[in-house]
Amino acid sequence: MAGVRSKKSSPERSYDVLIVGAGLFGLTMAERLIRELGKRVLLIDRRDHIGGNCASEVDSITGIECHKYGAHLFHTSDQRVWDYVNQFTSFTNYVHKVYITHKGEVYPMPINLGTINQFFHSSYTPDEARAEIAKQASSAPAHPTNLVEQGISLIGKPLFNAFIKNYTAKQWQTPAEELSPEIIKRLPVRYNYNNNYFKDTYEGLPVDGYGAWFQNIVAKCGKNLEIRLGIDYFTDPQIAKLRRSDIFTIYTGPIDRYYDYRFGELKWRSIELEKEVVDVDDFQGCPVMNYADLDQKFTRIHEFKHFHPERNYGCYAEGSDKTVIVREYSKTWTRDDEPYYPVNTAEDREKLDQYRALAENESNIIFGGRLGEYAYYDMDKTIAAALAKFDEIKDRV
Ligand code: UDP
Repeated sequence: MAGVRSKKSSPERSYDVLIVGAGLFGLTMAERLIRELGKRVLLIDRRDHIGGNCASEVDSITGIECHKYGAHLFHTSDQRVWDYVNQFTSFTNYVHKVYITHKGEVYPMPINLGTINQFFHSSYTPDEARAEIAKQASSAPAHPTNLVEQGISLIGKPLFNAFIKNYTAKQWQTPAEELSPEIIKRLPVRYNYNNNYFKDTYEGLPVDGYGAWFQNIVAKCGKNLEIRLGIDYFTDPQIAKLRRSDIFTIYTGPIDRYYDYRFGELKWRSIELEKEVVDVDDFQGCPVMNYADLDQKFTRIHEFKHFHPERNYGCYAEGSDKTVIVREYSKTWTRDDEPYYPVNTAEDREKLDQYRALAENESNIIFGGRLGEYAYYDMDKTIAAALAKFDEIKDRV
């Protein structure tokens, strides 16, 4: 890969900026600093690959592209982000579809008129369904302050109990009354039969895969970008030297880790992914099947061949007899696990405020990305945040 060096071959040279973390925030910052400002950037990552949690790999048995850290679907309504990402990859016309199994029956997700009519064995029109759900939601307060209140106000109690309550309990293992209402606002509720998972203007998967997208960013950065993988910011001696030189740093690791957890840990959820190659052409007939009930311990199963129907593999190819499925289990985060989802309780927010106050007083380091900002960012939001941060700092780098 152009510009990527292993940790052993690190020549001494000078850099203008150190970026810690080669996920979307770090890559976007690197690209902007180099291509707009002509800066020399050292980008390091503790992992042996770039792309952070968006990285994918090709399964060696089936040739199917699998997302290493859980499914990543690109979608955005932000024109700036869409134009930006299209410089590095084009996108397929994939539209994400999810189904959910509840008490032995499969329903479309997110909740739409199909889900509602199937669940209530009814044939409501859009207006009738709206009126019925409004009745069922009437116990919720006008201004929901947590996930339960928000969920019930959106879809009423029976649907909440069937499709959200136990899934959320499995996913977050935190009393839903302590979770932010924002979590559930991510999902659309529709009074028609549209069961597209997202509601954004643009959606798709990188045509040649996530790896090709990120390698194109690196290629466009040219010789002003050096990437060193397998490097720990906190323990690597060469990085320690750079830190002492007070180099301008963009840090995208966990903000509490940076400050040595002095106000305590911010809570995360992690996940465990259990991959299996199955000897059937098509395991579940859709990209993602959620499991609403507590008797299945996993939250969902991904079947990656359905992410790229345009590719000549999987059930889209003549005579295929294998598929790859990945069961996703939610997991309590410890310091040895990858952080995925910020739990973001009131206690976490209090600690975060303290960390942010320290961060604001730093002159030569900024924090960004899901981990650096402790934010439940989608890919497009991460890129938007990086572009905005770049605008903010470009005169002082
Ligand atoms: N959710 C749920 N049932 C579902 C799907 C989602 O209860 O079938 C809730 C759950 O609390 C989850 C949140 O909605 O954390 C957001 O779901 P999304 O699919 O956006 O989560 P992600 O893909 O980021 O894990």
